[in-house]
Amino acid sequence: MSQVSASLQPCKNDGQLSAEKIWSECLKLIKENTTSLSYKTWFEPIKPIKFINNELTVQVPSQFFYDWVEEHYGSLIQKVICSVIGEEAKLFYLIQPDEMFSHDLPNLTLVQPITNPDPVRKPFTPHINLREENILSIKSNLNSRYTFDNFIKGDCNQLARAAALAVANNPGGTSFNPLVIYGGTGLGKTHLLHALGNHSEANGKARRILYVSSEKFTIDFIEAVQSDSVNDFSLLYKSIDLLIVDDIQFFAGKEKTQDNFFHIFNTLYHSGKQVVLSSDVPPKELKGLDERLISRFQSGLIADIQPPDLETRIAILRKKSEENQLELPQDVVEFIAVNVTSNVRELEGCLISLLARASLENREITVDLARDVLRVVVQNIRTPITIEHIQKAVSQYFDIPLDLLRGKSRRQEIVHARQIAMYLAKELTNSSLKTIGLHFGGRDHSTVIHACQTVDEIIRSSEEEKQHIQSIRKIIELQS
Ligand code: ADP
Ligand code: MG
Repeated sequence: MSQVSASLQPCKNDGQLSAEKIWSECLKLIKENTTSLSYKTWFEPIKPIKFINNELTVQVPSQFFYDWVEEHYGSLIQKVICSVIGEEAKLFYLIQPDEMFSHDLPNLTLVQPITNPDPVRKPFTPHINLREENILSIKSNLNSRYTFDNFIKGDCNQLARAAALAVANNPGGTSFNPLVIYGGTGLGKTHLLHALGNHSEANGKARRILYVSSEKFTIDFIEAVQSDSVNDFSLLYKSIDLLIVDDIQFFAGKEKTQDNFFHIFNTLYHSGKQVVLSSDVPPKELKGLDERLISRFQSGLIADIQPPDLETRIAILRKKSEENQLELPQDVVEFIAVNVTSNVRELEGCLISLLARASLENREITVDLARDVLRVVVQNIRTPITIEHIQKAVSQYFDIPLDLLRGKSRRQEIVHARQIAMYLAKELTNSSLKTIGLHFGGRDHSTVIHACQTVDEIIRSSEEEKQHIQSIRKIIELQS
């Protein structure tokens, strides 16, 4: 139904009044059918622009915003528009970034869907009247080594990085509050959190910034309980403009700490302060965490970081060797990048060991030396399954070249193999539909949904096809 015009020029003002009237009718219906938080976040920022010949044009602040609204509310909007304007209705989106999005977000291509948005935002009455002069000065705990400049961009971290940058430029002022970054160990969560804090500090967008791990928060809280100073503890946290809490999975099972954090979180959130969190699993899978907290975490933006793909691994190795004033031979870079696939920390570990061996034994850095080092460092490591593993296995199984599998060919056997690869990527990795689409020649999420449905039907109707897919799964497991 809806079409996109990515022009950055606003439309003329013709018919603006009636556009406003029509849109306000639509909003009434939308309001009845969404939670107040979703309404505020995703519908209030939409501006009606013009209404001519049954065509309503509305303005949205970014490509990301448009993708989100279409993915989550497309069918609701369609129904509403038809019931207000009639069956002939057409909706056009004008994507016009406003200032806060202008840095990075128009290029966003990855979206992590929120499946269970926060039900209601209750009116807030502050319990504590914070008076700035009473508040202690704080140390931000930020590590200046971690910046956006030395964080390598890749498909695997694009959403998380772009969202972190948007938040750093406008803490508390985007709809990404809280911003939750999740991903496996060693993939760059802590780096990104510090980069966000450092950037905000440097551009003066937040005065009081605090980075803390959830373990440190817990220890400090327990100490505060023991020394009868919980009020001071809470007061300090509630005075922060940008609170960054790393590894929230460690809050699991610690009810009192969670309870205290919940109150701090609410105070900050309702007074427009920014909260940024990281976790090693998606928030809804956090075990031992209060439902209230989980639902709060889901009310902002949840962005994933996936294991780096080959190109990103190569770029990271180049950057890290540059930082060490070292020029690694191309074949060594490639050898390490191909063989160390699990995470960035591992990649760094290999590089450091390689440098150490080369300088201690006075040896040249060659593929042979790299092989020796890797044997020790990456022993017994099982890597998580990536979309690349899946593509490789499917390409082998059907004997179809990788570039055809990822490309645009409509040949039936290639489409079939590609659909199976997409289906397996959905089944076996944590990647979002957007991420999967991106790995298959930049297809959009609806193509991936269609592929998954098709393969689901094939499996249900054919025992033989089911066996094929089982065999491919085995290959993937063996190769990863
Ligand atoms: P996590 O918190 O997810 O376990 P870290 O942020 O501690 O991971 O990252 C581990 C190491 O890898 C750090 O030294 C970090 O600087 C580096 N790193 C991770 N991702 C990137 C990236 N995209 N670009 C550059 N360095 C990275
Ligand atoms: Mg970390």
